Amino acid sequence: MTRLTQVNNLLLATLWHAQLESAGIACEIRNRFIGGAVGDLPPDMVSPEIWVVDDADLNRARTLLRELRNPPKRAPWNCFQCGELNEDQFAQCWKCQSSRPGSAV
Ligand SMILES: [Zn+2]
Repeated sequence: MTRLTQVNNLLLATLWHAQLESAGIACEIRNRFIGGAVGDLPPDMVSPEIWVVDDADLNRARTLLRELRNPPKRAPWNCFQCGELNEDQFAQCWKCQSSRPGSAV
């Protein structure tokens, strides 16, 4: 059991935890509930932490975390229906509403 990282934001910790779990890495969030309740403690003692349960997963977890922290900038994509160029953040073609190839939508 090893601490992977400290996150100053529970929402982010929850998101990363879910991503790690979905990659098959067992982990847990600590300090989930005490944030804000203990005003006298230094912030680094009350920020949520992500712990990796099995040390064998640690390297994989660190690699994944690096990707989560620095999401690769993806390129615009061409609609396979109408050929329109769409910005990366759109999951559907703005012109014909076709789903992006490979998207889960
Ligand atoms: Zn289209």
